[in-house]
Amino acid sequence: MTPDELPHLRRCVELAAEALADGDEPFGSVLVAADGTVLAEDRNRVAGGDHTRHPEFELARWSAANLTPEQRAAATVFTSGEHCPMCAAAHGWVGLGRIVYVTSSEQLLGWLCELGVPPPPVRALPIREVVPGLAVRGPIPELADQVRELHRRFHRRKSHTEADSVLG
Ligand code: ZN
Repeated sequence: MTPDELPHLRRCVELAAEALADGDEPFGSVLVAADGTVLAEDRNRVAGGDHTRHPEFELARWSAANLTPEQRAAATVFTSGEHCPMCAAAHGWVGLGRIVYVTSSEQLLGWLCELGVPPPPVRALPIREVVPGLAVRGPIPELADQVRELHRRFHRRKSHTEADSVLG
């Protein structure tokens, strides 16, 4: 990672915080061209019930609609949490380039376990097991605590909401 890449990762964490503030799981991603231009960004939008609305999936589809194969291959996706297998596959199918993530799926699973949250229904394979040969960088320890705190807040609030509804 180069120093000019850290702001993109900070933006991913901001987008994850925006998602959390809007009732979504805290994940955010930014698509950056080879020259450093931010092309697109998104954050998790699964609160409405469609659990495929991950930001990395949206960026893969955006890139397929808006970029040439050469532009996609030269682009980098920055993201607050490592791609899940669905998003890694989408990334690989559209031929996007490098991925830089703040925290790994392995870290996230460990935190969910500590919080007593059941594991997700889809196995958290590392990106490289889904897309062999892709350039992947992460985790980025400088920002990991911020991402961890967002997930802690999301699941703590969720368990409170569930407890509230049980209590009527
Ligand atoms: Zn995903």
